[in-house]
Amino acid sequence: MSDRSAQAYSQALQYIPGGVNSPARAFGAVGGGPRFVSHGRAAHLFDLDGREYIDYVCSWGPLIFGHAHPRVVRAIQEACERGTSFGAPTELEVAMAAQVCAMVPSIEMVRMVNSGTEATMSAVRVARGYTGRDKIIKFEGCWHGHGDSFLIKAGSSALTLGAPDSPGVPASVAADTLTLPYNDADAVAHAVARNPGQVAAVIVEPVAGNMGTVLPCAGFLESLRQITRDHGIVLIFDEVITGFRVAPGGAQQRFGVTPDLTCLGKIVGGGLPVGAYGGRREIMSEVSPMGRRISQAGTLSGNPLAMAAGLAQLQMLTEPGVYERLEQVSVTLAEGMRDSVRRLGRRFAVNQVGAMLCLFFVEGEVNDYAAVTRADTDLFRRYFWACLERGLYLAPSQFECMFPSAVHSDDDIEATLRAQYEALRAVL
Ligand SMILES: *Cc1c(COP(=O)(O)O)cnc(C)c1O
Repeated sequence: MSDRSAQAYSQALQYIPGGVNSPARAFGAVGGGPRFVSHGRAAHLFDLDGREYIDYVCSWGPLIFGHAHPRVVRAIQEACERGTSFGAPTELEVAMAAQVCAMVPSIEMVRMVNSGTEATMSAVRVARGYTGRDKIIKFEGCWHGHGDSFLIKAGSSALTLGAPDSPGVPASVAADTLTLPYNDADAVAHAVARNPGQVAAVIVEPVAGNMGTVLPCAGFLESLRQITRDHGIVLIFDEVITGFRVAPGGAQQRFGVTPDLTCLGKIVGGGLPVGAYGGRREIMSEVSPMGRRISQAGTLSGNPLAMAAGLAQLQMLTEPGVYERLEQVSVTLAEGMRDSVRRLGRRFAVNQVGAMLCLFFVEGEVNDYAAVTRADTDLFRRYFWACLERGLYLAPSQFECMFPSAVHSDDDIEATLRAQYEALRAVL
């Protein structure tokens, strides 16, 4: 590891649990210490020792136009000079809400919050308040932030109650969360039948982006829509990753399935801490201070700097050619990776949709968590370091996506595929 990163890391370990403010940043799954960042420019990241990388983490998704895009920087600067926070409404918040509703038509009303976690926690509370029911259904391998209700693993059979997946999560909370296999609509139908009139919400990543990239199988999202509609259950799409990434209107637009509520985060904040949840007016009209006054609040929610950054990115996303470029970059990467793997005589899965993709060290198809867990993580660990040495900054885990941006250049892509091939050849 580089010297100044090592120094910063050993200091960090003294004061911050694990030396990091979010565990995914630690290199736990690949061993060694993280590189500390000095700065970023477009698709490139620079560490404290001046090493340059092509960045495929992009802050874990938010930076769809790369680092320090001049328009985003300018928007933040301009907002900053007017004051950093008011605790009173601003026009920027209205502009942001209108922009989100225009891009994601199922969102008729939207609340801004400060993280994806807040968005999912709030959406579930609203679903519970709206339906008067307590239970929720989620899926193995999906991540919805660190709210208690989501830190639940599946029981021993698909139909038994869940168990806490972290110390500190009460068993009483686990009892209300059912965790089912992704892409298994029959399991959902059974669980709903076994818990009549008790399920408030089904929450799903419409493309799973927290176990690598796993696409919904044909009919899965449609079945969720049908089952939830038949039983008065609120269907929540957690589009914190997929929102504005796989299409302007998210996965719901790409796959043509309309949820009741949508959670957003990451891209919506332009690199500042933002989340949002919204959906049908009838449901959102129960959120405090309206209707039944389902509680949800935030001192810094709708923060002007965050709104300015997010809005700048969303406006740039509506310009012609952006999604075509994102798709082209992603497809080129995916095809190039498949080709490299084939040339080396292997049949590893490469899943891709829109600007998210993943090379799984698994032979054959990857459609659920069970398949994902067959990945050769030791091979991934060696591949990760071989890539880092060759100037590619990948997420330090097999179970994360690559997030190309609209500013990854043709040269970046070519250099990436070359480095990846060499890295693969070195480790296979
Ligand atoms: C990142 C993520 C979250 C949590 O967002 P934070 O801003 O990290 O709290 C929720 N859902 C999904 C799908 C995510 O990828």
